[in-house]
Amino acid sequence: MTEAPPTTRPAPPARRSPEGEPLLSVAGLSVRFLMPGGRDVAAVEDVSFDLAAGECLALVGESGCGKSVLASALLGLLPANAMVRGGARLAPEGPDLLTADQATLSRTVRGRRLGLIPQSPSAHLTPVRTVRSQLEETVREITDVPRSKLRAAGERAAERAAFPLDHLDRHPHQLSGGLAQRAATALALVGDAPLLIADEPTTGLDRDLVDRTVDELRRHVDDGRGLLVITHDLAAAERIADRVAVMYAGRIVELARADAFFGSPGPRHPYAAGLLDALPERAFTPIPGMPPELDALPAGCAFAPRCPAATDACGALPALAGGVACHHPREAARA
Ligand code: SF4
Repeated sequence: MTEAPPTTRPAPPARRSPEGEPLLSVAGLSVRFLMPGGRDVAAVEDVSFDLAAGECLALVGESGCGKSVLASALLGLLPANAMVRGGARLAPEGPDLLTADQATLSRTVRGRRLGLIPQSPSAHLTPVRTVRSQLEETVREITDVPRSKLRAAGERAAERAAFPLDHLDRHPHQLSGGLAQRAATALALVGDAPLLIADEPTTGLDRDLVDRTVDELRRHVDDGRGLLVITHDLAAAERIADRVAVMYAGRIVELARADAFFGSPGPRHPYAAGLLDALPERAFTPIPGMPPELDALPAGCAFAPRCPAATDACGALPALAGGVACHHPREAARA
């Protein structure tokens, strides 16, 4: 297996959009699902973060920790049994993504201010139409480009995502995984959305293709876009992110600069440390136990049943303070 080289990107400055605001401010976001039989599933609890222009925030954690529910909430794609609290505002003067109606989201937000790079590009693309026709249709729908210039605009969009022009007349099933990913990225870039959400963009790709995909996504960040990348692939997160948010049982338990998190002094939350120690290129030691059911969370810290550092104090829910939600955060660098 090809090993990803360590990221040596310098620590990001506190980059802000020209208006001095973050591109996206999420505050106190919670999502609960009311299930048949009265089950109440707390999928996301009290999540807050900002995302600036020219910054990539990687949201990481095991499957079922709430990452994809959070993304669906931001995109207005939650099912009817979801109960949402909190705010998620686009700057400047953007609508609140959590309360905007579907018409507002589809007319003014999706594709224009917020682009989605989906988890399964080949499923996201329409199978019976060529990439060219899908790009031209998207250009026609969300930009003012006149009909006579659609072809050139579609080709420009393809080039921005490094999609080869001589493959534009192919159907999705004729594309490799990497090219399908680039086609989906090209579609997400058509409206020049300043903010991109990539939901598990490297799922199912081999390591070499993962590296190329994240490097291409990083180019869009370096061009000044904000990118929220949702991934369980820590190597991909290390390669692309400026900051890392670790989710466990629906909550952010650590929010840190990527260079400090993956390098020195390392993660501070015992769960985040366990995630890194589980990697084959590190200690290759899995975290014992399983994550809790989200409809039966323990009182206090949800990680306590698996945590080697748990004490009686952990029976009280730790708040996220100073970038970590833990009563006994690690201070020392990893060996
Ligand atoms: S609060 Fe306690 S149980 Fe939870 S991660 Fe920290 S030390 Fe472990």
